Amino acid sequence: MNRFEEFTTRIVQQVGKKEGAISPVMVNSASFGYGNSETGEGIFDGSVKKPLYARVGNPTSAQLEQILASMDGGIGAVAASSGMGATAMATLSLLRAGDEIISIGGLFGGTYSYFSETLSRFGITTHFFDVDELDAVEEAINTATKIIFLESVGNPNMRLPDIAAIAHIANRNGVVLMVDNTITPLSVAPIALGADIVVYSTTKIINGNASALGGAVVFRAIAEGEDKFKSERYRDLHPFIKKMGNMALVANAKKRALRDFGMSANGFGSYLTMLGLETLPLRMDRIVSSVETVAKALHEHGFIVNHPSLPHHPHHGRYKDQFMNGCGTLLTIDMGTKERAFEFLNHSKLITITANIGDSRTLGLHMASTIYRDFDEPTREFLGITPGLIRISIGLESAEAIIADFIHAANL
Ligand SMILES: *Cc1c(COP(=O)(O)O)cnc(C)c1O
Repeated sequence: MNRFEEFTTRIVQQVGKKEGAISPVMVNSASFGYGNSETGEGIFDGSVKKPLYARVGNPTSAQLEQILASMDGGIGAVAASSGMGATAMATLSLLRAGDEIISIGGLFGGTYSYFSETLSRFGITTHFFDVDELDAVEEAINTATKIIFLESVGNPNMRLPDIAAIAHIANRNGVVLMVDNTITPLSVAPIALGADIVVYSTTKIINGNASALGGAVVFRAIAEGEDKFKSERYRDLHPFIKKMGNMALVANAKKRALRDFGMSANGFGSYLTMLGLETLPLRMDRIVSSVETVAKALHEHGFIVNHPSLPHHPHHGRYKDQFMNGCGTLLTIDMGTKERAFEFLNHSKLITITANIGDSRTLGLHMASTIYRDFDEPTREFLGITPGLIRISIGLESAEAIIADFIHAANL
């Protein structure tokens, strides 16, 4: 059974209930009554598993967290207010001033500015590498390195990492591997490939209908015997390992980040996210095959298309061998100039022009004038942002309709 088939069965069963309300129960209360002081004390010391306060957990979000954790084979997950909230939670729960991050591939603009402009103000240095600079990555690791951060697919450069090889480097050096799997939920299983922590923006394909901003972090279990988190490098985590055992990473993220920074998910958002999540395997299955069909047809019609399914793409071999379930909804086209790119987007009847990705509808955006407008030339070059570059996120429309619309819009 392929992964989409397997999860089509699992996720619909996990979202719905057999008794009472079938659709997830939505709890919107900001606070929760404890009934008596003894229960209140138990909730605060962790011996009673009941809601404490919505900033540190919400019952509707807890259901979403369980489904996402099981999707990735994690021990637990923590939902967040947005994908950036999830990235902030995952990283801030492990970092202190003086630490270093190694960032490989991509990179989503928000993550890039978070690392380069914001964390740098707090004494945390990030070193950026391309997905194929693995020797340089290994050389850059030192005692201050706390996180190797990786995007499962370069957005928008469409370069594919060898995730298992990078996990091998992380594990050999005892450093955490964190993967932003926003673009490839279900298609890529980072924890199975050796990663420790998975970050999602659920705003994208997981929700799929632009009804809720959200994010989540999935954590692996701490092993009983040897585990890299038990080394000196992660000494701040040791009290949590002592108290919480295999759940230490979840508890650490809740205490060290969620409680103090408050990037918490809300019940209504988590409810809407689960309604989308229920159909994620079906949508992914359809879109990853549409993307290939569209990329091939556009290439044959003379578009400059960037997608790893095309034989001339530098990571075509990796796509075939390691991305058997596709690499998400994105492809890019290069129209040469900003004017031609604007013309194409304005002529298309099908494209919704927006900064989002992973929607039911086909979305498109000119990169240099929007998300990357504040980046200098060398940074744009590193991130693969050319003047005529348009990022397309393929939707659920028929591939034939998309191809016809694009050819018409480009005046070919
Ligand atoms: C959108 C996105 C994010 C940020 O998510 P928000 O929900 O918009 O905060 C992070 N990583 C990737 C790869 C994204 O596409």
